[in-house]
Amino acid sequence: MKYAKKISMMPVYIGMGSNIGNREENLCTACKRIIAIRGIQMMRCSRFYETAPIGGPLQPMFLNAVLGIKTVISPHKLLEQFQGIEILMGRTRTVKWGPRTIDIDILIYGDKIVDDDRLKIPHSLMHTRLFVLEPFVEIAPNVVHPGLQKTILHLYRELQTSLSVTA
Ligand code: ATP
Ligand code: CA
Ligand code: CA
Repeated sequence: MKYAKKISMMPVYIGMGSNIGNREENLCTACKRIIAIRGIQMMRCSRFYETAPIGGPLQPMFLNAVLGIKTVISPHKLLEQFQGIEILMGRTRTVKWGPRTIDIDILIYGDKIVDDDRLKIPHSLMHTRLFVLEPFVEIAPNVVHPGLQKTILHLYRELQTSLSVTA
């Protein structure tokens, strides 16, 4: 008897940000384009959070969100797809951490750790960024960061505490 090959869907969390043009429309468009990709199933999208830019030049406020999906697509292929969407949406890279129509980062890919020249998963700065952890905690507080072995809620609370101590 033959068995159909079981392809497992991995839970993946994606960080999105926009601070040029119609920011809300940009996040919605990115979200629609992501979930239209074959092999991606939408789980949840957070609300949109207005946040102050951190690092980079003087620039407008951001709108950030975190999107949860399930996918059979590999991490590197996913990065390629997301960079394609960024380019289609007019993303240009002139200055590091500069203004952008859309930024799409892979935050967490199941319990996978990727660390090469093109891709680092979990995203190497996600645990230091409130604009990532706040929307993330809204949709998936119990997801565990596979590198730090702490939940998103734990990381969020830790970061809030450290920011209030240094304020
Ligand atoms: P940051 O990575 O600090 O959020 P950024 O999003 O502005 O900064 P980009 O210019 O969008 O940086 O991306 C630079 C490179 O980061 C990309 O070309 C990509 O190869 C690499 N990269 C490494 N890890 C990731 C990841 N987890 N998600 C998206 N890109 C990543
Ligand atoms: Ca980013
Ligand atoms: Ca990016």
